[in-house]
Amino acid sequence: MSTENILEIIDVSKSFPGVKALDNIRFSCKKGEIHALIGENGAGKSTLLKIISGMYRPDSGKIIYKGKEVQFHSPAEAKDQGIAMVYQELSILPELTVAQNVYLNEEEKVLDKGKFHLPLIREGKLRKAVSELAAQYGIEVDPYALAKDIPVAKQQMIEILKAMVHDPDLLILDEPTSSLDREEVDKLFEIIRNLQNRGITIIFISHRLEEIFQFAERVTVFKDGKYVGTENTADIDEEKLIRMMVGRDLKDIFPPKVGQSKGETVFKVENINYFRKVRDVSFEIRYGEIVSIAGLQGQGQDELLRVIAGINRESSGSIYIGGKKVDNSSPAKAIKSGIAYAPEDRKVQGLCLFLSIRENIAMASLKDRLKGIFIDEKKEEHVVHENIKTLSIKTPTAEQLSGNLSGGNQQKVVIGKSLAIRPKVLIFNEPTRGIDVEAKQEIYQLLRRLAAEGIAVLMYSSDMLEVIGLSDRVLPMYEGRITAELTGDDINEETIMRAAVGMVKEGA
Ligand code: ADP
Ligand code: MG
Repeated sequence: MSTENILEIIDVSKSFPGVKALDNIRFSCKKGEIHALIGENGAGKSTLLKIISGMYRPDSGKIIYKGKEVQFHSPAEAKDQGIAMVYQELSILPELTVAQNVYLNEEEKVLDKGKFHLPLIREGKLRKAVSELAAQYGIEVDPYALAKDIPVAKQQMIEILKAMVHDPDLLILDEPTSSLDREEVDKLFEIIRNLQNRGITIIFISHRLEEIFQFAERVTVFKDGKYVGTENTADIDEEKLIRMMVGRDLKDIFPPKVGQSKGETVFKVENINYFRKVRDVSFEIRYGEIVSIAGLQGQGQDELLRVIAGINRESSGSIYIGGKKVDNSSPAKAIKSGIAYAPEDRKVQGLCLFLSIRENIAMASLKDRLKGIFIDEKKEEHVVHENIKTLSIKTPTAEQLSGNLSGGNQQKVVIGKSLAIRPKVLIFNEPTRGIDVEAKQEIYQLLRRLAAEGIAVLMYSSDMLEVIGLSDRVLPMYEGRITAELTGDDINEETIMRAAVGMVKEGA
């Protein structure tokens, strides 16, 4: 990689009515690098990229591209110079084929100018061109398919192909991974690396630290419209990056712990066994506590949580809430007993993306509001609005489709759904996966508040920082057993890891 800058932004500002989106910022990108942009929502990331791609004009400041000052008056002008952008909002036309979408308004790139083409021939030429383009960059997509029949993850490939039509030198992607699962993320970055190997410079926005460290050479942080800094990802760790983003230390991200609770036991499980996945697990949660099941993945944690939630049946053992034995022999009975379960993959199990916030929150607790065969709508309204308010779900209305919310707000709807049954135990599998730092912090505060109100909070997280920062008690699992019970200063990376690989301290 050369050290020459392909792009330099100098002292750029941009205001919208009532908000200074960018305040005298700078930014530079080296030729051939993959450069990540990160910052809390509203930090100005998209605005900067839209200025680079010609969508917005800066109020002041300079853009130096390939060594020359440039001014773009439209995205088309930027494209002509080799800058293409994939916007956060996908712009696919669902009724058109993939091929028609890719060459939308650019047909003359494929067809002979001024010549009349029969529709079939025209379509054939477009499809052939898309196939070639896709093959060139290792993208798998069927040019014949209607765009609406293509899964969302793949629709993005159409956007990338649209950008590649212009043979860009600089490709900008605004949150390309926000709706992808891990496998799809890997696929996407395989393609991005391919582009890099062909000499294309990449700038992308992401909230996921993990993929930034994995795929980007450098990362730039923005905060409140200001430039914070640029680092080589190899030279920093997650903690440093978070500190740059939020401008505060980790200890300020997590709410204070209750310390070792002397409170009464609100939740207790005894001798739980589930096939050979969960072995003889017993533990308790006291008033005010957040307890984490920890450990490496696949040590029985999922199974344990699902046993408690009544999903994994055919288990043995007993569960007590407030000293009374409860029936968790099915999910419905577990819910009735006061056990709410927020699953790992909110998009698959926790949330119906095509239903509104209201419908999602109301669903779990429907029985509560039945008057004969009718739904008590007033009561439903009330529950839903209470939840939107206490969880500070950011949405214009309760009728908003859940699929249109950000990850953090979707997760709050999942929590709202769980709370609508007025649970005594709240089980959380990966509470903040795929959520930006600001929303994470809100969810941490929320879990702490629920614990303080006497709800037993039980969680599993593969995020070590989260386990350490949030838990009053940590129970690492190894091969189906709980191998330690850690509290206070014993909750640190080293002791958790030791217990997680089955190395238990003498006498413990
Ligand atoms: P990010 O992408 O980092 O989340 P944005 O660049 O989208 O942030 O937004 C920065 C700020 O500018 C926010 O306060 C946002 O509300 C505001 N903003 C962005 N675009 C517009 C616009 N077209 N009109 C008015 N305000 C906008
Ligand atoms: Mg944005």
